[in-house]
Amino acid sequence: MKLQRRRFDALIIGAGGAGLRAALQLTRAETKAAVVSKVFPTRSHTVAAQGGVNAALANVVEDSWLWHMFDTVKGSDYLGDQDAIEYMCRAAPQAVYELDHFGVPFSRLEDGAIYQRAFGGQSRRFGAEQAVRTCAAADRTGHAILHSLYQQNIRAKTHFFDEYFVVDLIRDAEGAILGALAFSIETGEPILIESKATLLATGGVGQVYRTNTNALINTGDGLAMALRAGVPLQDMEFVQFHPTGIAGRGMLITEGARGEGGYLVNSEGERFMERYAPHVKDLASRDVVSRAIYTEVKEGRGCGPNKDYVLLKLDHLGAEVIKSRLPGIRELSMTFMHVDPIEQPIPVYPTAHYMMGGIPTNRHGQVVAPLRETPEEPVPGLYAAGECACVSVHGANRLGGNSLLDILVFGRAAANHMIGFLGEHPHHRPMDEAAVDAAMARLARWDDKGDGERPEALRTELKKIMEDHVGVFRERERLAEGVDKVREIAQRMRHSTLRDHSRIFNTARVEAMETENMIDCALATSLSALKREESRGAHSRVDYPQRDDERWMKHSLYFLATDSMDYKPVRTRPLTVEPFPPKERVY
Ligand SMILES: Cc1cc2nc3c(=O)[nH]c(=O)nc-3n(C[C@H](O)[C@H](O)[C@H](O)COP(=O)(O)OP(=O)(O)OC[C@H]3O[C@@H](n4cnc5c(N)ncnc54)[C@H](O)[C@@H]3O)c2cc1C
Repeated sequence: MKLQRRRFDALIIGAGGAGLRAALQLTRAETKAAVVSKVFPTRSHTVAAQGGVNAALANVVEDSWLWHMFDTVKGSDYLGDQDAIEYMCRAAPQAVYELDHFGVPFSRLEDGAIYQRAFGGQSRRFGAEQAVRTCAAADRTGHAILHSLYQQNIRAKTHFFDEYFVVDLIRDAEGAILGALAFSIETGEPILIESKATLLATGGVGQVYRTNTNALINTGDGLAMALRAGVPLQDMEFVQFHPTGIAGRGMLITEGARGEGGYLVNSEGERFMERYAPHVKDLASRDVVSRAIYTEVKEGRGCGPNKDYVLLKLDHLGAEVIKSRLPGIRELSMTFMHVDPIEQPIPVYPTAHYMMGGIPTNRHGQVVAPLRETPEEPVPGLYAAGECACVSVHGANRLGGNSLLDILVFGRAAANHMIGFLGEHPHHRPMDEAAVDAAMARLARWDDKGDGERPEALRTELKKIMEDHVGVFRERERLAEGVDKVREIAQRMRHSTLRDHSRIFNTARVEAMETENMIDCALATSLSALKREESRGAHSRVDYPQRDDERWMKHSLYFLATDSMDYKPVRTRPLTVEPFPPKERVY
């Protein structure tokens, strides 16, 4: 098939909040930018974000960006990089006002100011009192943000390739990124998109777990592309399990439900979080609440016929609050559980939700990796932002409401740096045809038919392995077995084929390539988890229950080519303020 070619200054892979915020910045600066997305842009996972975005606006109670920074550093269990965290928390109010001006219909307080609600892990005066920092449009904040950003991009005339699947990055012998190979999911036609600067904004990889809150498209494609380009993945052992997924299904019930005053009870009707986090109870950080629910169920105080979930009680809030502030989760609960939270509590259990790790970047969104024997330097022409990136503001555990903030702040920062980069590099580098051939071969591989194992069967097996071996609580033997099993899946995937029909659907080819990508991400997560012998944030080792700052205050790096680990220091120095030194983390 003839290979179409297109040229742009900037290529953005992903049309979620991170990609669209970056695209808007670039297009408004008169840069010729293209956005590629495997689904229609407004179907990106950002659309599903419920609870809101954090910014110390102080609309409800007194607040400051420094307290927000303190909470984020503490929430990260001191693994977050404090320069990036300072940058993000300081930029937060501006990021939210910008959204307001873009037309995001935030809920309002009586005085007309943007509505804010309490979320877990938020405090004022460095842990003394609860803060109220999460800006919300009811419980559909992501929907409002994504649609407004899309409309602004249409107005600015950003070029979109909708429903194109990016197969791989193209790079030259020096490691510089020259663009990407994609193909139209509708027609199957490949297209080579050449760019001077490329941004990965492909979102998370929640689909590697059987029970998760993520969209079906969150398969870690960008992460795997980075791995194949020789970039390691950072801190992949840190997977956030959200405490309140709909039991047995995994769909998310926002933390905002507890922020509005909801609480958890066990089979004895006890409000058990009082025992685990006496001070802030149900609004402790997510890792803490997930472990508490898991422990309650394990010790026999679960609810229902199989005693395998706990209950989230909201009925005391009254019908008015639920209908106006939490309409989306009411609908989810009624659809999937036939439970109306105005009358009955919702059965909930922890579910895989968010990836703290990802492609290592600095706070300008530049991807940094060990190239040519240096410990770390920017990969020429490559940027990453959003959930696929690890900048790292979330460290070992992300606070609710900080991811929408991350995608906006670093989507914008990456675009600004790209604009500067394009000024210094006005020409396209020559395209390396061998690299194009390698990417084309990756696509052509799925034209093979045969009677090998089906990719979808391997995908199902992988998700079960990750759930059983690399879940909320971890331990050496189970992890080691998990690593072996994932490696075995990776081997079997090499011989996998699509069904031997006369015609192969493009969607089947997409799913096969996504499965390959998920496997690479699972290798990174399971090996990183096995090697980290401590408990920190979301990574809970029953055989190493303490945090160990002496040995483990460092970022993990997983390399695909050697299937091995390396480590790098945490940036503990903020930009202008005093560092927050590690302390025991209690809520
Ligand atoms: C149910 C749910 C609720 C959440 N609620 C909140 C909340 O209230 N507050 C908060 O702060 N955070 C929340 N989060 C987290 C937050 O929403 C996400 O981390 C964030 O929106 C991710 O944005 P993104 O732009 O990085 O990626 P996404 O929005 O996931 O977008 C990824 C984009 O990449 C594209 N893409 C991926 N692979 C390819 C490929 N191979 N080819 C072409 N395109 C590709 C996709 O098409 C998509 O456009 C929530 C997450 C979930 C799952």
